[in-house]
Amino acid sequence: MALFAKGITLKKKVTTLNLDLIDTPLPKRVILPLQQYIGEPSQPVVAKGDTVTAGQLIATAPTDSSLPLHATISGTVAEITEHPDYKGTPTPSIILESDGKDTWEALSREEKDISSLAPPEIAERIHAAGLITTQLVPVPLTNDLIPIDQPKTHLIDGKSITKRIDTLIITALDKEPFLGVNRYLAGKDHEELADGIAALKIMTGAQKILFVVDTHYPPHTQLKELVAADEEETTTLISLNGRRFPTGLAIPLIKAALGREVPLPYGHPRDVGVALYDITTALSVGKAVSAQIPQVESLITVGGGAIGRHGIVKVRIGTPIEELIESLGGLSKDPAKIIIGGPMTGMAQYDLDVPITKEISGLFALTQDEIQLSGDYRQCINCGLCVKVCPVNLVPGALSMYCANNRFDMAETEGLFHCIECGCCDYVCPSRRPMVHLFRHAKNQLMET
Ligand code: SF4
Ligand code: SF4
Repeated sequence: MALFAKGITLKKKVTTLNLDLIDTPLPKRVILPLQQYIGEPSQPVVAKGDTVTAGQLIATAPTDSSLPLHATISGTVAEITEHPDYKGTPTPSIILESDGKDTWEALSREEKDISSLAPPEIAERIHAAGLITTQLVPVPLTNDLIPIDQPKTHLIDGKSITKRIDTLIITALDKEPFLGVNRYLAGKDHEELADGIAALKIMTGAQKILFVVDTHYPPHTQLKELVAADEEETTTLISLNGRRFPTGLAIPLIKAALGREVPLPYGHPRDVGVALYDITTALSVGKAVSAQIPQVESLITVGGGAIGRHGIVKVRIGTPIEELIESLGGLSKDPAKIIIGGPMTGMAQYDLDVPITKEISGLFALTQDEIQLSGDYRQCINCGLCVKVCPVNLVPGALSMYCANNRFDMAETEGLFHCIECGCCDYVCPSRRPMVHLFRHAKNQLMET
């Protein structure tokens, strides 16, 4: 069976999104981890007791492959200390207390037309804004943008292949049907979007641009106008079924949009000549390159039956999730599970004093009826349903048994690292086996050894 021919189609009633924009009040406190991705942490340039303004640089990037960090509110540095992140890992963090004024740093700006900027200047502005990738494992965005003059050379079947990027995909699909920020943004007009797309095209050297939108959420005319304005006809737009899962994840999306298969388990879109970014990233790039504004806020999807207000929520980075929930009117019911990310691919939270960070796309407070608690899972009954849906043709039931019995070596041999952690197997399993949880644990164990 071809890769990604399988998967699941979710019903309209479970995937209908509330795309109303909700602005939240300024947080009283923000927690800003210095470790912004798996690589090198940033280095503080402020100390306890210093006053800061929003947008001020508070930690520098010691190398090109790490990220600078900016204050997201104005106020005082309360502490620089270890604090847990949403993965439960204690992480050195700068904690700011708000002065309630939201005073902004005076940003120095050099006005220039995007088309007149050379790739190194664009990269410098993207890096200075502290942007991170959102489609794959989070890394500094500049690390993911391969300069035109440095195409990747790699070995395929013993032959050295140099691959240039020919197509830039800008997707309005979200990683899963329960998330909606990209669909929300695709339905609006944005001053900086065209600049962001132009900058990504220059950086990737792509000759063609492909917009991917959700069939069920028609895009704003801006995207259609960008297609119509391209006299060379190198920009096109296609619709895909956003209720089909995991179409919104990077690797299946490339297969669905272009028919190209990214090699698993460690492949990258560039291996098949593609650069893939979502509308959220294109817009952040536009702001970083034209307005030169660092990233201090995010849009995330908030949902679930245990929280009163649902929608697309604008929030300052570093806001603790407990404070965010309070600002949305608090919990309306006892949640059975609180998830960062989406219900299919997100992470359960056991401590609500963890911050919203740049890569977080959603917050869900789910009721008992909406979840399968991992504690009550049963033995596999060999029904085969998980095999029927696994988009990368694994045998998830067997893999889950190896992982549950600490036979990580066997799981690896049977393709554990091909798993894209889509959660389709969890979703259909009548024995409620928490397979993605088991797979992530096994991958972590194997990577540590
Ligand atoms: S084994 Fe991995 S890729 Fe396959 S359905 Fe489960 S989570 Fe998705
Ligand atoms: S769906 Fe669940 S019960 Fe059925 S084979 Fe897969 S793991 Fe076993």
